[in-house]
Amino acid sequence: MPVSSLHCPVCAKQINYKTSVSSILICPGCVCSYQKSEGTAQFLQQEKAVLEDMSPLRLGTMGQFEDKPFEVIGRIQYSFEKFYRNLWAVLFSERAYGWLAEAYGDYMMLQRKEFLLNASVVAKLKAGRTLELPDNKSYEVERVDINETIYMEGELPEHSKENIRFTSVELSTDNHQKALIHLLAHYKTTVYTGQLVPFKRFNFKHLRDLRDWI
Ligand SMILES: [Zn+2]
Repeated sequence: MPVSSLHCPVCAKQINYKTSVSSILICPGCVCSYQKSEGTAQFLQQEKAVLEDMSPLRLGTMGQFEDKPFEVIGRIQYSFEKFYRNLWAVLFSERAYGWLAEAYGDYMMLQRKEFLLNASVVAKLKAGRTLELPDNKSYEVERVDINETIYMEGELPEHSKENIRFTSVELSTDNHQKALIHLLAHYKTTVYTGQLVPFKRFNFKHLRDLRDWI
């Protein structure tokens, strides 16, 4: 994919980006985030650099999902009290974003939606409970955890609106459909839904070479 770039106003390092769809850029030098508009960058805030988690993915990794090619262009890394997860922003050739969730070797291809969950649904977000989401599928709650820190890199469609401390809930159906719910204030939620996908099915290219670490 073609690359555009601008220079970081803080550290002068070149910040490359792949798509005009991205509105948030994180400088690879000083890890400041910028709102991009018409080739200029407006400073947002100092972010935290992602931690080494031995993921085989990186910015620039190519893959495919259901015969549609994509490129990994950004990452939000969540550090929970008991858990971690990467949400990789992937760009499909039709300029559509997807989210590739990665944790402990499991991969889920997800789409993001924002909606209000009513109080009766929120009350069921406890491990082992079953509930129905607005996509009319029945999910079981697998894991509930509290996010502690957010780290970012690359380019993203928008800045995270999440508070640092929010409850994250992972849900599954009995046929490998998955959902992640980030429970924000006042029942406002970010919901990701999609499916579990075996690593090999993505046909990844440009993975990290982790041999030196092993
Ligand atoms: Zn910079």
